[in-house]
Amino acid sequence: MTLSSRLKEIAHGHGFDVVRIADAAPLVDAARTMHSRLASGHLDGMPWVTHERIDLATTPQRLLLGAKSFISLGISYLGVREPPPSVPGTPRGRIARYAWGSDYHDVLKDLTIQVRDDLIRACAQPVRARIFVDSSPLAERAVAERAGTGWFGKNTMILTPGVGSFTLLTTILVDVELEPDAPLGKSCGSCTRCISACPTGALVAPGVLDAPTCISFHTIENRGSIPLELRHLFGDWIFGCDDCQEVCPVNRRAIEGRLASLRAYQDDDAFPALHQLLAMDDQQFRARYRGSAVTRTKHRGLVRNACVALGNVRDPSSVGPLLSLLHNPSTDAIIRSHAAWALGRIGGREARNGLESASKAVEEVSCLDEAGAGYASEVEAALAMASTQRLC
Ligand code: SF4
Ligand code: SF4
Repeated sequence: MTLSSRLKEIAHGHGFDVVRIADAAPLVDAARTMHSRLASGHLDGMPWVTHERIDLATTPQRLLLGAKSFISLGISYLGVREPPPSVPGTPRGRIARYAWGSDYHDVLKDLTIQVRDDLIRACAQPVRARIFVDSSPLAERAVAERAGTGWFGKNTMILTPGVGSFTLLTTILVDVELEPDAPLGKSCGSCTRCISACPTGALVAPGVLDAPTCISFHTIENRGSIPLELRHLFGDWIFGCDDCQEVCPVNRRAIEGRLASLRAYQDDDAFPALHQLLAMDDQQFRARYRGSAVTRTKHRGLVRNACVALGNVRDPSSVGPLLSLLHNPSTDAIIRSHAAWALGRIGGREARNGLESASKAVEEVSCLDEAGAGYASEVEAALAMASTQRLC
């Protein structure tokens, strides 16, 4: 048995659904594409993506001395859980599938380390190896494409026949020569379902995602205010967004993920009750989401996102919990601004009265800082919106 075959056996044995190999030549095409996306503003809002970092992420020899081969590993996280029946008075949000269970970084890192260690043991000579689990500087999807793990879909995800796109990718870079696999040579053909399904139009061209318009970017990475013109398009997403994957025909034949730690064990893991999120303080948030990828958006981000979802769900029972946030002076200005927006969207007398009293309270403040001024203008805009809404 060759080392490459032994490696595949090892990785499948650790639960990976796809194991492919690519040579470690520089990722020239990926570099060109990423530099161009950065220059055209499609990566705005992600200050860690710089031209220098792109060069590093596409030059394997700078990532590992003597780099010769990539091992591209993929594992499905597709979990199946239907949303619970909608109950008036208990509106729920939605979390992207990959964040239903334990933080995938931890789960994948442990598994990839096991594969790396077994590979080192299986080698006759000493091996240098470096692992990459999403957060490290490597263009992992470009590696996956070269290795034939899948092809780049028009939704920018890697699509693997039979496995789908609800997969987590991880990579090992080694300084040993392994037998490379060929790229799949497949494409999406004439399908454009993901582009049509994107609520915000963030897929601006096939395979081109504009981060500043993507729900996933705003609900996870954006630390400030969500652009007013996008909020009504977010639906009930509060962490990530799967819309461009849910419609993908490749996922119709996808296998279900086998990793129990990535599953949702209760409805709230996937479809959290939004009023409960609003009532959570920072300590409760940390306790609830310890070990989950949801911590990435932080307490403030999750409550802000929950406000936007409540504004979109428009359940009148949300007015009370939103007013509690609005009228609490110790609540963060970003959260209060989004609570005001949600109240404006829901409308009705109680919401309007609450916004009017918030507006009066703002008028009494003689000098507003930047956050206060932002909040003041959100309250006024919400008041104007509330006067045009009919309560559902
Ligand atoms: Fe559009 Fe959502 Fe996909 Fe972003 S994640 S491109 S918002 S469908
Ligand atoms: Fe490709 Fe169609 Fe899937 Fe989009 S929905 S990624 S176009 S196959």
